Amino acid sequence: MGLHVIVPVKYVPDIEKVRFDVKSGRIDRSSAPGEINPFDLNALEAAVRIKEKLGGTVTAISMGPPQAESALRDALARGVDRAILLTDKRFAGADTLATSYTLACAIRKLGSFDLIICGEKTVDGDTGQVGPEIAEHLGIPHIAYVSEIREVSNDRILVVSDLGDGYYLVEMKLPGLIAVTKDINVPRLPTLRDKLRARKAIIEVWSADELVDVADVSRFGYVGSPTIVHRVFFPSERGRKAIIFRGVDAVDKLVEVLIEEGLLG
Ligand code: FAD
Repeated sequence: MGLHVIVPVKYVPDIEKVRFDVKSGRIDRSSAPGEINPFDLNALEAAVRIKEKLGGTVTAISMGPPQAESALRDALARGVDRAILLTDKRFAGADTLATSYTLACAIRKLGSFDLIICGEKTVDGDTGQVGPEIAEHLGIPHIAYVSEIREVSNDRILVVSDLGDGYYLVEMKLPGLIAVTKDINVPRLPTLRDKLRARKAIIEVWSADELVDVADVSRFGYVGSPTIVHRVFFPSERGRKAIIFRGVDAVDKLVEVLIEEGLLG
């Protein structure tokens, strides 16, 4: 028994090192090595803890270039049982809708599952849209910003969702999807033995052809992406203004300036 938990993981460039090409509005992915999206490490850890508690299996799935294989090997070293890489030129240029659609089709192709655990967001795209969109494509419920899993059984999960204005205790019937925050756990470090095992493990590679029976291929990649990026720019820096008030009337002068600036009524 146990649960089949699926964790979508994104291969992202090391954000400390990557360069950004302002002219084309694109990240120069060749300028930095790649890694698992840091938020997805928390998703993997949550999935592996559920497996340790209830049994079952964890599948990691990533859509990306062939190099994304290294992210999946890392996931295998962290306790994942099966890893699938979706890679094909037809998946390239995808916006969040096409990305989530492709991932949802691959999950459908996998057959039965109980829980999908996504990261809250990625460090490069940073939209936080892909998780909830996968749930919508699959017609299952989802809970975002999950900072704690209180209880999990074979058919239900009880979680704390941190929406900023308060904590919400939410119960969801499975199958469902949660997107987890960094507060949920501290991901463990894989041992050398885990890494060696992962190096030899098989990573399944699926192209668009593998999904034709569960997908409309015109919804993949650039052609399936309705988003149009008009312009990418750095926000202009606003200079700071400093005035030092001295003397006995310093407070009166300060109040005068604040009223002038419309900051005091
Ligand atoms: P979020 O929504 O912030 O991610 C949330 C969670 O979803 C992650 O923590 C992870 O669990 C899961 N997840 C997200 N992405 C993946 C994935 N790929 N595989 C597995 N799990 C995932 N990006 C490119 O890399 N190449 C391109 O050519 C490209 N072209 C684009 C063209 C357009 C017009 C637009 C608008 C965007 C393009 N992007 C491209 C960016 C791409 O849309 C996003 O990288 C992608 O949709 C994921 O969105 P996000 O990074 O905001 O993920």
